Amino acid sequence: MLMIGMLGGMSWESSAQYYRLANELVRDRLGGLHSARCLLYSVDFAEVERLQAAGRWDEAGTLLAAAAGRLEAAGADLLVLCTNTMHRVADRITATVRIPLLHIADATADAVHAAGLRTVGLLGTAFTMEQDFYSDRLAARGLTVLVPGADDRALVHSVIYDELCRGIVSDSSRTAYVDVIGRLVAAGAQGVILGCTEIELLIGPADSPVPVFPTTRLHVEAAVTHALGR
Ligand code: GLU
Repeated sequence: MLMIGMLGGMSWESSAQYYRLANELVRDRLGGLHSARCLLYSVDFAEVERLQAAGRWDEAGTLLAAAAGRLEAAGADLLVLCTNTMHRVADRITATVRIPLLHIADATADAVHAAGLRTVGLLGTAFTMEQDFYSDRLAARGLTVLVPGADDRALVHSVIYDELCRGIVSDSSRTAYVDVIGRLVAAGAQGVILGCTEIELLIGPADSPVPVFPTTRLHVEAAVTHALGR
């Protein structure tokens, strides 16, 4: 079994899910007392969030590339960056390390294709919904990506930073997200990508009339499959 390097802390609420899911998947696939070989490098999210808000992506890339280098030096065989948003600087990381970075959008696109869908709604931070680094990656895989309108994007974004990244999971925000999903479906979405690693703490399959694609789970599944060599 290869060593999975998790670059997390963005936020730690979702990194905890990465750790739990990786161990559960290895247990389910290998049985007995098997658990995931992994390393977790967890940043101070306040530093990263400040750089995001200021648009200082180069500095954020330098910070995360250095962290990725430490995971590689510590023995990681592959990397997962435990956030959709910071894939904005994925190229900076892959230029720094020799081990593979499993891109979260690729794992997600694979699942959308496996479900036989082509047009998907995308929920995530404003950076993920409004900049092109994420949608372009999905489009390159033949998917049509719909994002919510401006008011809905602001709502989805603020729930992520003001609630989910702080461990707050509220029924009123779930209801608000369900309404946003309804509008994406009315606009033609055949499925909805939960394109922020905390959203699946709030939304599950039962909250949507179309399939949802939980990026944390899909990313961990790809990492475990890679680590087990199958
Ligand atoms: N975890 C979130 C994501 O998947 C948002 C936090 C961040 O900006 O990294 O995008």
